[in-house]
Amino acid sequence: MKVTKHIEKANGKTLFSFEILPPLKGQNIKSIFDGIDPLMEFDPAFIDVTYHREEYEYIERQDGLLEKRVVRKRPGTVGICAAIQNKYKVDAVPHILCGGFSREDTENFLIDLDFLGIENVVALRGDAVKSEIYFKPEKNGHANASDLVKQIQGLNSGDYLDESLENSCPTTFCIGVAGYPEKHMEAASLSQDLQYLKKKVEAGADYIVTQMFFDNEKYFEFVDKCREEGINVPIIPGLKPLVTKSQLSMIPHRFKVDIPNDLVIEVAKSKDNKAVKEIGIEWCIQQSKELLERGAPVLHYYTMGKSDITKRIVEAVF
Ligand SMILES: Cc1cc2nc3c(=O)[nH]c(=O)nc-3n(C[C@H](O)[C@H](O)[C@H](O)COP(=O)(O)OP(=O)(O)OC[C@H]3O[C@@H](n4cnc5c(N)ncnc54)[C@H](O)[C@@H]3O)c2cc1C
Repeated sequence: MKVTKHIEKANGKTLFSFEILPPLKGQNIKSIFDGIDPLMEFDPAFIDVTYHREEYEYIERQDGLLEKRVVRKRPGTVGICAAIQNKYKVDAVPHILCGGFSREDTENFLIDLDFLGIENVVALRGDAVKSEIYFKPEKNGHANASDLVKQIQGLNSGDYLDESLENSCPTTFCIGVAGYPEKHMEAASLSQDLQYLKKKVEAGADYIVTQMFFDNEKYFEFVDKCREEGINVPIIPGLKPLVTKSQLSMIPHRFKVDIPNDLVIEVAKSKDNKAVKEIGIEWCIQQSKELLERGAPVLHYYTMGKSDITKRIVEAVF
């Protein structure tokens, strides 16, 4: 079922969902099931599976020259989605990127999803590869998520790249896109970022999932601003608990997300990561309770494979 349909059917009740990432190449699907099993009792409406594009590694050869190698460390997004739908009968939502995909790759990826009975996707641009500063689209690929959304919507209208196809079957994907309550790191201003977000919705996005945030006011203000701009699709808050002290600098650096001073002070004075984990869980529970009280459509947790932590939060909230 489509994510938007889940929300509609819930009739104002806040739903639970979560995101997982594929295991490192060489691991098996058991680690995925072990992560999902403890959360099934909370009846997730859907489970997102991230997509990880290739990375470049430079290996020094014996002659001293550097050899560029292309590696994909976490393949398996589509297979995991199919396995989730098959085993748990829960809607799996694969993420799909502009980065590393030509338009043909995108179309073929979507055809696989459609044949597998996957009805939802989250359409993202993706980040620049680690060795580059700026995002570079693939040859004949998309430069931003709104163009990717357009292609998916095109397929939903039966528009395949080969215009000579006759009687082509339209797909029926429900499309999620990313939103940034504290603005995307490359955007010049939140207003400009919102205009681009609006473009994604006008291109056919059905719902928005937010980047993590630790101050609920940022989410509520973001929702208000979206509504003022005429962005009227559901906005699902994305939540991630702090679990290590090093995240105090890593999260702002990598995601340009602010951490409220009260949380910073508590984490900074804690004696080890065991204590940080407790603080992070409690903070996330309080955030979740308020979001639920104020009618967020879904609480979406970035589990990072740590289902014990997510379980404690969800147990306390739902
Ligand atoms: C919920 C969520 C899930 C994610 N899942 C994954 C994942 O599975 N795999 C992964 O690799 N990454 C993932 N990411 C990270 C994401 O790929 C990065 O944040 C990326 O840098 C931006 O992706 P986007 O889809 O928001 O890009 P876009 O919406 O294309 O925006 C990127 C930047 O370009 C600007 N922009 C947008 N449209 C235009 C336009 N038409 N013209 C000019 N500028 C424009 C925006 O303001 C923004 O600064 C996820 C992020 C979120 C929030």
